[in-house]
Amino acid sequence: MELRICHLYPDVLNLYGDRGNVICLEQRLRWRGISVETSGVSIGQPFCPENYDLCFIGGGQDFEQEVLLADLKGEKTQQIKAAIEDGIPFLAICGGYQMLGQSYKTWDGHQFDFIGAVDFYTVGSAQRMIGNYMFTCEDLPGTKIVGFENHSGKTYLGPSVKPMGKVLKGYGNNGEDKTEGVRYQNVFGTYSHGCLLPKNPQLCDYILTVALTRKYGQCQLQPLDDSLENNAHHYMQSRLERQ
Ligand code: GLN
Repeated sequence: MELRICHLYPDVLNLYGDRGNVICLEQRLRWRGISVETSGVSIGQPFCPENYDLCFIGGGQDFEQEVLLADLKGEKTQQIKAAIEDGIPFLAICGGYQMLGQSYKTWDGHQFDFIGAVDFYTVGSAQRMIGNYMFTCEDLPGTKIVGFENHSGKTYLGPSVKPMGKVLKGYGNNGEDKTEGVRYQNVFGTYSHGCLLPKNPQLCDYILTVALTRKYGQCQLQPLDDSLENNAHHYMQSRLERQ
C-alpha cells in the first residue's frame, strides 16, 4: 500500500510548525510498513488532483493569504474544488482552512475572495482568539481533541456543512456558536495548529483510514504504541479541564 500526500504551499503556509502534521501522517504510515511520498505544490506550480491521495494546507497570516490570492485564481481553484468533490481527504488548518471557504473580510476591511469549495465564510475581528483549546470530534464519538488556536477570523458555517465538533474550552470557529472547524466530503478544516495530529493520534489514524479506504476499498490500521502521544494529550486535556 502507498499514500501520496500533497502539501499545498509548504513554504508560505506553515505557522507554529504545522508541517509537523505532515511528518506525523508520514511516520504513522511508515511505522506500519505503508509507503508514503509527499510532494509540495507552491506558487506557480500545477496541482493535479489525480496525483494525490491526501492533501494538507497549513495556516498563514492575512499577509500570506493575500499573497496567495493571485495564484489561487483560475485553474488551481477549479482543481482544488474538483479534488474535494472527488473525495480526496484534505486537512486544512487556520489560514488554510479559511481559504477553502467563500471569503474573508479582514479586521482592517480587506475583502479576500477565496476558493469557495466549502460553504462557510470568515470575518476578521479586532480581538484575536488565542490559546490552547479543546473540542469534540463528531467522527470520533467520545474523543476530545486538544489543540492551539490563534486567529482573528471568525468563521460561520453554511447550511450544507457540519462542524468538526463542539468547542469544550476556547473559541473555535467564532467564539459564539460553540462550533469548531468544518466537515464536508472528506475535508477536515480546523483552527487547531501545529501539533494537532501528534497530540491526537486517533484523529491522525482516522484521516489516514479515510484516505486508504478511498484508495484501496478497505483499511484496517495496525495499532501502535501511543503512550507518549497519549501522555501529551492527557496532560493538556487535564490542564484545560481545570480551567
Ligand atoms: N489570518 C488568519 C486569522 O488571523 C489566519 C491566522 C492563522 O492561520 N493563524 O484569522
